[in-house]
Amino acid sequence: MVSRVIPVEQFDLIIFGGTGDLAKRKILPGLYRRFLSGQIPEGSRIIGAARSEHGVEEFRDIVRSAIAEHVAPDKHDDDAISGFLNSLEYVTIDALGTGGWKELAALMRPSVVRAFYFSVGPSLFGAIAERLKKYKVTDDESRIVVEKPFGHDLPTAKALNETLSRHFTEQQIYRIDHYLGKETVQNLMAVRFANMLFEPLWNARNIDHIQITVAETVGVGGRGEYYDKSGAIRDMVQNHLMQLLCLIAMEPPYAFDPDALRDEKLKVIRALEPVEPDDIVRGQYLGDDEGPSYLEDCGNPSSLTESYVALKVRVSNWRWKGAPFYLRTGKRMRARSSEIAIVFKDPPHSIFGDQAGQNPNVLVIRLQPNEGMNLTVTIKEPGPGGIRLIEVPLDMTFKEALGAEADDIPDAYERLIMDVIRGNQTLFMRGDEVEAAWAWTDPIIAQVEDRANRPKPYEPGSSGPEESLILMHRDGRRWREVKV
Ligand code: NAP
Repeated sequence: MVSRVIPVEQFDLIIFGGTGDLAKRKILPGLYRRFLSGQIPEGSRIIGAARSEHGVEEFRDIVRSAIAEHVAPDKHDDDAISGFLNSLEYVTIDALGTGGWKELAALMRPSVVRAFYFSVGPSLFGAIAERLKKYKVTDDESRIVVEKPFGHDLPTAKALNETLSRHFTEQQIYRIDHYLGKETVQNLMAVRFANMLFEPLWNARNIDHIQITVAETVGVGGRGEYYDKSGAIRDMVQNHLMQLLCLIAMEPPYAFDPDALRDEKLKVIRALEPVEPDDIVRGQYLGDDEGPSYLEDCGNPSSLTESYVALKVRVSNWRWKGAPFYLRTGKRMRARSSEIAIVFKDPPHSIFGDQAGQNPNVLVIRLQPNEGMNLTVTIKEPGPGGIRLIEVPLDMTFKEALGAEADDIPDAYERLIMDVIRGNQTLFMRGDEVEAAWAWTDPIIAQVEDRANRPKPYEPGSSGPEESLILMHRDGRRWREVKV
């Protein structure tokens, strides 16, 4: 049985920004799927909160449409939908004002887990935290969930940590990075630490390098103006790619325990070397029949913000010295594909002459699409005629391995919200971790801004700018193809 439903206590989840894009696309559909699976205990409530005036029935209609649009049709169950909608409430509230707060406080119940999801712009996080305390909406066990972006740089991240910590303890703060909720990301830890096979090889003596790719086919579209203030380094590298890197590079924690795991991730971030100017390639997508260029999308013809970045990153410790991590992420690329590839070294000596060593073992961990793992191994091609070596994949794609049960794997948001209710912080970022990530990222951004170089143009539907290929070629390596 794949998706064993672990019961949680009765809860009230208050979603600030309950009518926003993230709530409608991810949070509320995810909660409905948990309801359908039987995980949400009777009497639990989900309370939407936003400035717009809505009656509860209006809010339920908004959520009904969100389910229709964002939940797979085979999961549309009329009884479950109406049961779920009945658990919804709505409060009109202004994060920056006084209206609605007393009403929200009056709705709270003793002895029920309270979680407050800040699904609003980051400029409102501090105001909401302050008012939650001022109007006595929270108790000592309450949790707050904070969406990305967590700061714009180190000073803003520190200021935000300080603001939140004035009102809540670290044990109450859940900084979300939904990549950590992905099934394969957690499986990466199981593969590393629940098997004998990989861990003895998991170091620079046996691994040549690691590639982390997060490629998207979409451009920045309507978010152009917002994105232009951020760029791929801030939007993706500082958080999602950094978290993936940490999980691959970290030492085994003493237990699968929130602080044990986060201590190990923090050590990795602190061991990252500063990135050399020649080890960064930035790009901007051009336009084509299917869409405008980045410069048109962001409405700023002289923008120097990158929609693509590739980096060579060195982890300066005993385990990884000599095995670099190559990271790349971009928009309007050839395929929507996120994967981690661990490329092993060639055997030290080939008894098969020239044939060996052309195809190293590669362990690929696919985050999306087709979540799963794949290990390429070299074998003898079956049949007569001497030894010819071929590369074959050992496929561990979840869909193949688990069949229909793979469809019941909870998505990242569902899993993480249930972890919040359970009070399990393992898959959330700690304050010091976020600050360390910014402390490493800020000099990269400062260096890029100082040089004020125009990002390299790349064709939409490609793998990024030519220069990113050179980043690899000069080290005698090559990127894996970006494909579904
Ligand atoms: P959005 O679509 O603009 O929604 C914002 C929500 O906040 C709306 O419900 C809005 O409702 C409410 N709101 C705005 N000002 C308010 C105020 N003063 N008081 C109370 N409520 C207020 O934004 P979003 O895309 O859902 O993003 C929400 C957060 O998630 C942001 O921090 C974003 O960076 C993060 N995030 C979003 C995504 C995504 O895919 N959308 C992905 C990752 C992270 P009213 O206008 O009615 O108040």
